[in-house]
Amino acid sequence: MFEVILNEKKTPIKEKSSVLRALTQKGIQVPSFCYDERFVNRSFPEKTDCGICVVEINGRLEKACSTIIADGMVIVSDSDIVIEQRKKVLERMIEDHPLDCVVCNKSGECKLQDYCYEYGIKRTSNACREALPVDDSSPFFSIDPNKCIACGKCVKVCACLQNTNILFLTETNGKRHVAVNGETLRESSCASCGNCVSVCPVGALIPKGLSGTRARRWTAETVRTTCSYCGVGCQIDLKVADNKILGANPSSAGPNDGLLCVKGKFGYKFIGHSDRLTTPLIRENGDLRKATWEEAYSLITDKISGIMASDGPDAFAGLTSARCTNEENYLFQKLFRTVIGTNNIDHCARL
Ligand code: SF4
Ligand code: SF4
Ligand code: SF4
Repeated sequence: MFEVILNEKKTPIKEKSSVLRALTQKGIQVPSFCYDERFVNRSFPEKTDCGICVVEINGRLEKACSTIIADGMVIVSDSDIVIEQRKKVLERMIEDHPLDCVVCNKSGECKLQDYCYEYGIKRTSNACREALPVDDSSPFFSIDPNKCIACGKCVKVCACLQNTNILFLTETNGKRHVAVNGETLRESSCASCGNCVSVCPVGALIPKGLSGTRARRWTAETVRTTCSYCGVGCQIDLKVADNKILGANPSSAGPNDGLLCVKGKFGYKFIGHSDRLTTPLIRENGDLRKATWEEAYSLITDKISGIMASDGPDAFAGLTSARCTNEENYLFQKLFRTVIGTNNIDHCARL
């Protein structure tokens, strides 16, 4: 147990942690672009902190994310010099940032936008650097280095958690930004997991959604679900508007701890896809025709009864889909094992 003076009050702190974590646990929001609990005990060769989480500790400005709490510390979280320093960080970030929030996909869920508004930042310079090329080569997401604030979060996720090392920070014409090991994402060994996209606090890494379906954060709701693609049970927060899924983010709860694979992150587009069947089809004289469910069920039961009578239950095999829920898969195997009477049942996740 520690005791510190926090904003002029004696405050007990239960455990040794960063000042940022301790303050957050006391309900004090400290701004940060790059902080992530998952990197706390990992060293990283490049300088990748954003520098906005400053607070006053014993009369000096210190980064709250990398300072460990100590007994007797005097901490001020919102003094004038703290606010001034945070403003300077934000002003530097937007110096050459393309402020196109009105058309940016990230608007409404962008930390840079939120903090600039909260701290009353006004752009003081109109520095116009040569636009860096957008990498649009991946079918799943785009990289716009012009919007990158070089917080390094994507680099750390890719290197430390995904173990893929595709991204790094570099500098072009005085602007520090994210870049790809290999000419483009498509030419790199990117696993398309999208974990870099999920952590980017601004609009530099943007997922490609279904064309024609867009919604601002405030018009969409978040729906927690369990990924059905395999047995891990990753928790996903779907962004849903107008009964359509517009995006998927990993939940930090559950077994996935803020990560997903390519299927969980980007494999939701089949749900609302226009190619999906909306009625059963029956093949007649070589051609498929639309049928009612009554017609289809009647045909299925007739055929099953006939084959059961002539060849027995082991003439059947059932293959289920990872795009069905766990409960639907359970019912399907129940149908095969107890109704039809065969153990010839398998699932596409084992192929
Ligand atoms: S990344 Fe954020 S600040 Fe930049 S244009 Fe997009 S919404 Fe605006
Ligand atoms: S999608 Fe995954 S593998 Fe590819 S750059 Fe991002 S984190 Fe790395
Ligand atoms: S792309 Fe996003 S997460 Fe990566 S360094 Fe730039 S701002 Fe940070």
